[in-house]
This record gives sequence, structure tokens and C-alpha cells, in this order.
Amino acid sequence: MMKEIRCKLLVVGAGPGGYVCAARAGERGVDTVIVEERRVGGTCLNVGCIPSKALIHAADEFARLNEYASRRSPLGIAAAQPSLDLAQTIAWKDAIVGKLDGGVAGLLKRAHVKVVLGRARFRDGKTVVVQTETGEQTIRAESVVIATGSEPIELASLPFGGIVVSSTGLLAATELPRRLVVVGAGYIGVELGTAFAKFGSQVTLVDVAPRILPQYDAELTRPVAQRLAALGVGLKLGAAVQGLSSDGRLSIETGTGVERLDADRILVAVGRRPAVADWGLEELVLDRDGPFVRVDDRCRTSMRGVYAIGDVTGEPMLAHRAMMQGEVVADLVAQRKRVFEPRAIPAICFTDPEIVSVGPSVDEARRTHAEVRIGMVPFSANGRAMTLHGESGFVRIVARADNHVVVAMQAVGTAVSELSASFGLALEMGARLEDIAGTIHAHPTLGEAVQEAAARALARS
Ligand code: FAD
Repeated sequence: MMKEIRCKLLVVGAGPGGYVCAARAGERGVDTVIVEERRVGGTCLNVGCIPSKALIHAADEFARLNEYASRRSPLGIAAAQPSLDLAQTIAWKDAIVGKLDGGVAGLLKRAHVKVVLGRARFRDGKTVVVQTETGEQTIRAESVVIATGSEPIELASLPFGGIVVSSTGLLAATELPRRLVVVGAGYIGVELGTAFAKFGSQVTLVDVAPRILPQYDAELTRPVAQRLAALGVGLKLGAAVQGLSSDGRLSIETGTGVERLDADRILVAVGRRPAVADWGLEELVLDRDGPFVRVDDRCRTSMRGVYAIGDVTGEPMLAHRAMMQGEVVADLVAQRKRVFEPRAIPAICFTDPEIVSVGPSVDEARRTHAEVRIGMVPFSANGRAMTLHGESGFVRIVARADNHVVVAMQAVGTAVSELSASFGLALEMGARLEDIAGTIHAHPTLGEAVQEAAARALARS
């Protein structure tokens, strides 16, 4: 048995929530230990945000070269037929992940955080036992942070294994599936389905919902659906998965009967659930919020000295939410005053085109506020969008009619993910339509459409 470690702060899980929390606490002089059972960086760096965006970029490059090779590019560019070495693409993606993982390890080291590799199990609210490679390690802390993240949901009718993979499995595929069926048309399914369609797979998206990306309104998702159609992606919507039939095909129940789909790979991307199993949750007295660990505006659980951050605490399950919660908890443990009370958490779909949404949907805004003003500008009226090949899509601003305070901003279009920063800032700072319309936006940029949308909402464009 190894010597017991004692520390002021113990963080369980080194994803974006956990590593940001530990690094910041360490920088503030808090004696901190972080435990990670797989790789520092968590889902986001290793099997989530970063690897998926790397593959999406590679697929975009490949699709562009294919367009040039078709000799139909309006840009007057022609190129030879490109080829794809997916194993090399995956190696390039893995190198980026390795670099970022190394960066996180360096960050923790510079902040004097001790990293313990192994699976942690809570014995009580102040003690965990970690199964390390060299034996059991007990760690006792004054405060602990649960940052165990989330894991992909498995369908009982289509368990992972064989040709059925989660996003983690698909992101590691070194051979291109000829026929890829994606079950789940949420952002992960549509992002990866689009990328593989661009690589050359024949992709079919299946979902029980009647349309793709159902958490966004139909206007926002229409350009994405049009692009999927142009890429030849098949859509089976309103269809329930029954399972693999004896001939290895996927059976789905559509409104009109049972269909069987041929597939070399099936990606199941039907959502993620908080990782609350097998780490000793039952030893703690924690209130729950459905499947999630309930926290207050300081990320405190119902047990004194026990905090929780990131995906394990609820929606939106996004890396930037986890990181900010991590910062808040580190500051609190370092005796600083902080609350986690964001006005807005941006959500982005890195689809083609991209969608960004900050604040409530238009319908929700209408329900909350007596009257709203909406300004919408299509990218077909934006010079920069035209030069980017991205005339489809629009920017939309929703503001309260009484005082013009902006409550929501959305966009769909090429490269609009970068607008999320100005959207978030506007909402967080309580900007009014006049603030945005009166700010000089550089020309020619997509941002001009934001300024114009504010002016339109003020009815003075
Ligand atoms: P995680 O990143 O899940 O980290 C939790 C860590 O805890 C893991 O490393 C795990 O090994 C460790 N752990 C769990 N239990 C234990 C234990 N008992 N002992 C020790 N260690 C333990 N979000 C975005 O914001 N933008 C995106 O573009 C985006 N794209 C995504 C694409 C995909 C394919 C996926 C799957 C997710 C994506 N996400 C994206 C979501 C994002 O990855 C998560 O919101 C984020 O990683 C959550 O951070 P976290 O710190 O809460 O948990």
C-alpha cells in the first residue's frame, strides 16, 4: 500500500472542466491533485471537439479539391483528381491531439499540480482510492471536484461492437467505410456524417425526429439539410432503429414499414449521458437533477466540500461551459468570490454550413418577453460571404422590443463559428441593438451582417 496523499483540492477527471480547475487552483497556490483514468484532456481533446474538427477540416479540403478536379469550379481553378490516405489523416489528427495533451500536461506541471493516473473511487466525501499501475493510492482532500464528464449512450437494440461504433470508434477509423449509416442526427452525427460523405462514404442519417438538428429551428437548419442533399447524404427521418437483422443489415421502422439498410459501419450518436457509474457515487449524499449531479451557482453539490463541474452536471454538455465552471471552482477554493451565472453559452454545430446560436431560440424569447424585435440579414447581401463561397445562410438578432436589449443571436453560414465570440460578448455585456448597429464593423467581413441585422431590427437599415 502506497503512502496516503493529502492535499487541499482533489479533482477527479482531467477533461476541460477538471484540468482547467486544477491548473487554475495550482496557479493560485492551492495544493492540488488531479486523477485521470485515461488521458489528460478528457473527451474534448482526445475523442471529441479537437479530433472531430480536425477530420471535418481534412474532409473540407478533400471536397474542395474534388470540386476543382470536376472542372466545374466557378473560380476557374482546375486540379488533378485528389486521393485520400485516411490512415495518414488519422495520424495527423492524432499528432494534433498528442500536442494538445502534452500542452495540458505542461500546464498542470507548471501550476505544480500532481497528476495521478488511474481510476478513482470515492470512499467518502473527502477520500478517494485510485487504482494506479503500481497499486492502490489513497488521496484525502479538504475539497473535491467531480469532473468525470460523460459517455456515449448505447442503444439496447444496437449495442457497440463489430461494425457498430460510437464517435470514438469512428474518429479512429483508418479505413473509409464504403457505406456509413449514422444513427442520430444531432450535432455529432451530422458533423461526422458530413465529413465522411466528403471523404467519399455513402452516408445515410437515421433519426426518430422528423428533422435534423431538432434543437435548432427549421430556418437555421435548412441550409444544412440542403447541403446534405447536395452531398448525396440519405435522410431517414421519423425512423426508429430496430437492430441488426440476421443478414447484417440495419432494420429501421419508418412510417411506411420496415426498411433494411446496408452498412459497413454504423455510427450510433444518439446523445451522451453523465458519467456517474462505478466511481462510488453511492458513497456520497448528492442530490441529482435527473441523471446529472445537481449543483448550485457556485458548482457546489448538496455535500459540503464536494463540487461538480462539466458534463456530469447537465446541459449544455459543452467544453467551454465545463472550463468556465472549472475556473469558478478553483477561484472559490482559493477563497475568491465567484459565481457561475452566464447570461449565454454559445452552441456551435460545425456542420456545412456552420450554425451558431447564443441565447434562447426565437420561440423561447417570444415566450419570455412580452414583445421582441427581430433583425435578419441573409449572407447573399454580404460581400465577404460571396468571396467565401458562402452566400447561403443568415444572421439573426432577437432583442426586447421595450429596451432593445439583445437576448439572442443566431447565424448559419460558412465560417460563422467565429461570430460566436462577438455574439457571446454582446449578450454577456447586455448590449442593445443601438450598441451593435453603432459599432464600426470592419469591411469586408461576415460581421457586417451582424451590424446590419441590428440596424434592421431597429428598422433603419
Ligand atoms: P470529459 O471531457 O468527458 O472528461 C472527463 C474525464 O474524467 C475523462 O478523461 C475520464 O477519463 C475521466 N474520468 C471519469 N471517471 C473517472 C474516474 N472515476 N477516475 C478518474 N478519471 C475519471 N464540445 C464543445 O464545446 N465543442 C465541440 O465542438 C464539441 N465536439 C464534440 C465532438 C464529439 C465527437 C464529442 C464526443 C463531444 C464533443 N463536445 C464538444 C463535448 C465535449 O467534449 C464535452 O462537453 C467536454 O469534454 C466535457 O468536459 P468534462 O471535463 O466535463 O468531461
